[in-house]
Amino acid sequence: MREHMARFTATVGYVRQLEMRSLCLWCEGKLDGGWSCNHGGQLSVDGFPDDLPLAEIGKRLRCQRSGTKGRVDVRPDWREIPGSNPLRQPTADWQR
Ligand SMILES: [Zn+2]
Repeated sequence: MREHMARFTATVGYVRQLEMRSLCLWCEGKLDGGWSCNHGGQLSVDGFPDDLPLAEIGKRLRCQRSGTKGRVDVRPDWREIPGSNPLRQPTADWQR
């Protein structure tokens, strides 16, 4: 799964093509003691250029829970698809 994602370069334009407006964020950093952070959030694609790879966005984000920068998994937010889980998580503690 992970290797498949690495070969396919998803960009902001790809997300817009899917008619999605937000990204799903997932922190891959560690907390004190070595625990995985796994802090999740959402980010709007507004203002990002179409040709920007999602991985590049991940490299620029900093997680405010663990303080980790540049280790954020960024994906299209599949929850926007009708019928999927409408769970929403706060984005206020993610910095660009
Ligand atoms: Zn984190």
